[in-house]
Amino acid sequence: IVDRLKSSGLWRTKGLIGGKWIDAYDGKTIEVNNPASGDVIASVACMGERETKDAISSAYDAFSHWSKLTANDRSNRLRNWYNLLLEHKEELAQLITLEQGKPLKEAIGEVGYGASFIEFFAEEAKRIYGDVIPATLSDRRLFVIKQPVGVVAAITPWNFPLAMIARKVGPALACGCTVVIKPSELTPLTALAAAELALQSGIPPGVLNVVMGDAPKIGNSLVASPQVRKITFTGSTAVGKKLMAGAAETVKKVSLELGGNAPCIVFDDADLEVAIKGSLATKFRNSGQTCVCANRLLVQEGIYEKFTKAFSNAVQDLKVGNGLSEGVAQGPLINEAAVQKVDSFVQDAVSKGAKVLLGGKRHSLGMTFYEPTVIGDVKNEMLIASQEVFGPVAPVLKFKTEEEAIQIANDTNAGLAAYIFTNSIKRSWRVSEALEYGIVGVNEGLVSTEVAPFGGFKQSGLGREGSKYGMDDYLEIKYICMGNM
Ligand code: ADP
Repeated sequence: IVDRLKSSGLWRTKGLIGGKWIDAYDGKTIEVNNPASGDVIASVACMGERETKDAISSAYDAFSHWSKLTANDRSNRLRNWYNLLLEHKEELAQLITLEQGKPLKEAIGEVGYGASFIEFFAEEAKRIYGDVIPATLSDRRLFVIKQPVGVVAAITPWNFPLAMIARKVGPALACGCTVVIKPSELTPLTALAAAELALQSGIPPGVLNVVMGDAPKIGNSLVASPQVRKITFTGSTAVGKKLMAGAAETVKKVSLELGGNAPCIVFDDADLEVAIKGSLATKFRNSGQTCVCANRLLVQEGIYEKFTKAFSNAVQDLKVGNGLSEGVAQGPLINEAAVQKVDSFVQDAVSKGAKVLLGGKRHSLGMTFYEPTVIGDVKNEMLIASQEVFGPVAPVLKFKTEEEAIQIANDTNAGLAAYIFTNSIKRSWRVSEALEYGIVGVNEGLVSTEVAPFGGFKQSGLGREGSKYGMDDYLEIKYICMGNM
């Protein structure tokens, strides 16, 4: 498969600066691994400060041209990019599975999902409306126009190597901004392939640049540059806080999509089948490695036994293996550190009285595979419930009342996604409104879509991605007052 991908025209291993594919200036490279086998699949440019500065300059220079194109023109080019992404769905999905590990079916889903942001924002490009405000003096006319913020730095994680980029670059380019992307060093190949398709689609040189390698060095250069007007980041809360603090020096705009600690609340009055299906989908998608994955299953005492039994049975059926193999539902975790973290959380829970109902250890396949796991009798203070596990482990907590469930659910610094399962419409509203979360799924485990706003309360982040609101983060509002008319 690697050989086929190498000859596809999408196999890029250099950075993209000003429309040119560039090696690291000191020739350094970094290896990209297949987490399912440990094989090295590529060596890519390992860049740092100097390359980042040049990428910022390219983006800065390109801004004056790109931001002045008509909205229609930018829209058409984004639409071309969307079409090319879909045309190359198979190859992009294979790249995602190779470097990230998720099952091919999920990778194909990610390409469709990622591309949908480019399509959506190609359309939104044409709807950047202003306002005319009734003036307080009769000889004045007051206007509001919206303008692109300027050069955007987009720092993205490895769990959705394509979609996290599309979600940021789509609206940025639609608004007329130019971008420097820093993909995760673990999954650069998908980002580079997408950038190649952007070039082919008529997005001019310099409008979209990609640098990768030394994350802190690149990150610091992006944050320090006065030419970069906005940082948009998806990743860990710790790095997000650092970037936000760094951005203060130049008062950049900041959008952050950080960690979650999603509660998935199953009430006694839930439809058991719907609850099992929804919890399974939200917990085990991408082997639990998404920030909207259920991190804690809160199950009411009346349905607890029935639910844990049926849920464990369903989890047992998940096939673990190489994402490229037929029928596999659970790929490997991204790296050894991830498995160690997951395993240490499981050990911590067990040592504090939780019970392993299924799995609970590394998978016999070795590498970074972990057994899909269900743990009962979990308490909210255990690491497995208070920290983001980011792995295929479902901790189940028992609760008595709705008030108690809401209290446990909100007892965290995170506030990204939450899920509730109930057949009561009153309870749906009551609990949805009480949850301190940016996204609530009611009787539904998969809620992400390009047409709806994605983002968190509290320490889960700032700003929203997707939907009409996703444009706001890339626009400045300008008030124009015409006097003495
Ligand atoms: P994750 O837990 O998802 O790996 P990280 O926050 O470590 O979360 O990574 C998300 C992105 O942030 C990646 O592109 C990574 O390279 C980048 N990153 C990590 N450390 C820094 C840093 N100090 N400055 C800027 N970016 C960073």
